[in-house]
Amino acid sequence: MNKIEMKTPLVEMDGDEMTRILWQHIKETLILPYVDLKTEYYDLGLKHRDETADTVTVESALAAKKYGVAVKCATITPNAARVSEYGLREMWKSPNATIRRILDGTVFRAPITVKGIRPFIPTWTKPVVLARHAYGDLYSAVDVRAVRGEKVYLVGEDKEGREVGRRLVHDFNGQTGVVQAMHNVDASIRSFAHACFRFALERRTPLIFAAKDTIAKVYDGEFRDIFAEVFEEYRLAFEEAGITYLYTLIDDAVARVVRSDGNVLWACKNYDGDVMSDMVATAYGSLGMMTSVLVSPDGKYEFEAAHGTVTRHYYKYLKGEETSTNSVATIFAWTGALKKRGELDGLPALTDFAKRLEDATRRTIEEGEMTGDLIPLFHAEGVSPKKCNTTEFLYAVADRL
Ligand code: NAP
Ligand code: MG
Repeated sequence: MNKIEMKTPLVEMDGDEMTRILWQHIKETLILPYVDLKTEYYDLGLKHRDETADTVTVESALAAKKYGVAVKCATITPNAARVSEYGLREMWKSPNATIRRILDGTVFRAPITVKGIRPFIPTWTKPVVLARHAYGDLYSAVDVRAVRGEKVYLVGEDKEGREVGRRLVHDFNGQTGVVQAMHNVDASIRSFAHACFRFALERRTPLIFAAKDTIAKVYDGEFRDIFAEVFEEYRLAFEEAGITYLYTLIDDAVARVVRSDGNVLWACKNYDGDVMSDMVATAYGSLGMMTSVLVSPDGKYEFEAAHGTVTRHYYKYLKGEETSTNSVATIFAWTGALKKRGELDGLPALTDFAKRLEDATRRTIEEGEMTGDLIPLFHAEGVSPKKCNTTEFLYAVADRL
């Protein structure tokens, strides 16, 4: 058989622990036999990040900018324990944060839906895709305790330090309490809006953006207005694609999404996105079935699994014990990247291969072969689920592929 040709390389970002093991297996079992794989390889494994003083992460992000499509394995974000475990020179920053900063991207989390795996909200038969604006608001807020009797103001200064505005936040009078000030930047909100409209179009999914502009009239009103303004650039394309954009209040959005069949792209402000992405992920069952795509406003893509490096399984693997780690989200990171590369380079055979690999993966589970995390979630008449170990599952997918 002739292998499927590629034109432009994928940016391949290797990672850590159990997902690094999966990475190699997936390539060998499911991709290399069929695709003449071209990648530009970056090793983001913690050891190599340390050896390169983390320049490898920056280089990989710049390569993603250059080529437009990257696929990333989960990586360790070091904490104090990891610094001693790996003897690190420094507590390097989260690679995801570094890549997101360089691409100025928005993260979209999308569940992989499979027949037989019933979400906790049974009407969600299609994916609820969540977009989180990962800049500002609560996450870079200043918060302070107010002293009894204190009057707290919000004060603005111009470049020369002259006061240009002063508003009373609260007169604490005889009371104590707390105060918080937060900000956002129009350019960041605009980038977020572009990424959301673009992604909705690509997936042909209706978009909801929600905030609380009835209460935060200026702050959330700015988000609403920027989204409305940016939408004008996409209005025609949305009509042609037969999808809609709706701005609504966050409480109304929650009600709409819960009552829906899924099939919605839900764009959230930073805090709402933090909370709701965990709610959506939990509702779909397993972290092993959640993918994540970083999209930049100028259309660069980085695909990955939403879960981490599955450390607990890795330590079992190191001891020679059997593991049953779900590789589905990592397989879909690869297929997402290959599909996108195929579309951009006009290679239908590559896109078609990626879809076949996704179908084979879904079918493996639907026919009852799955990793341990999915067993309690699986309910299909006439099919009794069989627990596969990590490699058995990949071979079961390969058989169907
Ligand atoms: P995790 O790797 O997502 O794993 C947490 C638990 O979720 C696992 O112990 C396992 O539960 C279950 N799980 C997650 N993915 C699974 C899969 N594919 N198959 C089966 N079960 C799965 O999160 P963590 O343990 O908090 O973090 C581990 C490391 O990953 C940390 O160093 C963190 O910095 C990093 N991390 C990286 C990323 C990223 O690169 N995007 C994201 C998050 C975390 P059971 O143990 O009960 O089986
Ligand atoms: Mg959260």
